[in-house]
Amino acid sequence: MPHKRLFIPGPTEVRGENLAALARPQIGHRSEEFKALYRGLIPKLQTLLDTAEKVFLFTSSSTGVWEAAIRNCVSRKVLCCMQGAFSDRWFKVAQANGKDAVKLQVEWGRGISAEQIDRALAGGEFDAITVVHNETSTGVMNHLDEIAAVMRRYPDVMFLVDAVSSMAGTEIAVDKLGIDVCLAGVQKAFSLPAGLAVASVSHRALGRAETIEHRGYYFDFLEMLKYDERGQTPTTPAIPQMHALDAQLDDILSEGVEARFRRHAELAQIARQWARRHFALFAEGGFESPTITCIENTRGISVVELNRELSRQWAMISNGYGPLKEKTFRIAHMGDTQEWELRGLLATIDRILDLPSTANSASIDR
Ligand code: PLP
Repeated sequence: MPHKRLFIPGPTEVRGENLAALARPQIGHRSEEFKALYRGLIPKLQTLLDTAEKVFLFTSSSTGVWEAAIRNCVSRKVLCCMQGAFSDRWFKVAQANGKDAVKLQVEWGRGISAEQIDRALAGGEFDAITVVHNETSTGVMNHLDEIAAVMRRYPDVMFLVDAVSSMAGTEIAVDKLGIDVCLAGVQKAFSLPAGLAVASVSHRALGRAETIEHRGYYFDFLEMLKYDERGQTPTTPAIPQMHALDAQLDDILSEGVEARFRRHAELAQIARQWARRHFALFAEGGFESPTITCIENTRGISVVELNRELSRQWAMISNGYGPLKEKTFRIAHMGDTQEWELRGLLATIDRILDLPSTANSASIDR
């Protein structure tokens, strides 16, 4: 079957150079070569996240790190900010791990306000909070800086952030924001194959883990710390993905993180202008994501048909998630996506839907 260029919000397109990095000869995970790989890679992630805290690698998808954050950082009660499919699911993960989890639910498509969080935390009953930075199901990105300002008033509440579809696509200055766990899988804005996740883990989070008895086995932060100090992971990691991540981080740092984030912001502008012209945006104004645009299907098109036709040509987008299926559709513009690729996709959609061709006239404020 011919390859369809992916404009779905993960897995995203992987460049040939990074696919080639996966095919490097195997090395032992207790070898000197491995230590060199590990010790070279972690500082690059720290640079990307602007953090001096620990960064750990997880051989799993992001869901594994949701579970790790809950098991290692929640001792009493966790407040789960919920506003879409993924933030709603993190709540379920907390419950599945036997934690006392409470919902802070807002309507899908809306952002979580710092005031709502402040009000919920004011009673002093919570010792952790979960926030999904970029809700992939709705195209909403929360204002982490405003939430962080509130979190500073609650130093005993662990600030757990899912940056699954925003990390490497927009700035997340972990230490400045005071985030305790900031997690992501590499198959989204890192533009790498699925199978590896990364997370910054603060010294406060490690201190919390010390007070918790049943942290689980596979992702026990204290074991991970012990092995990190030796330049290793506790169990056999996804070494091919680590090679690819290392190569991709070199490219990200040579593109320049600011340039990378600016490219994402500019792609989002193009997608939003196109969406506003022909449809409408699903995300609340001011909360639109720089990595994914969720479009309200105001024309009542068949998204399934559109995607079928796109697939026949060369590309693939995403239908709306769960209850938003056919009511919305989503175009991801994250990772290594370039302007010409996005404009090409939008022009193809214009042609398929017989829309006045505007894709290439969208302007960018530079
Ligand atoms: N969090 C967000 C924001 C996501 O978009 C996803 C998946 O798309 C996940 C978590 C779960 O990731 P995974 O299925 O890779 O475990």
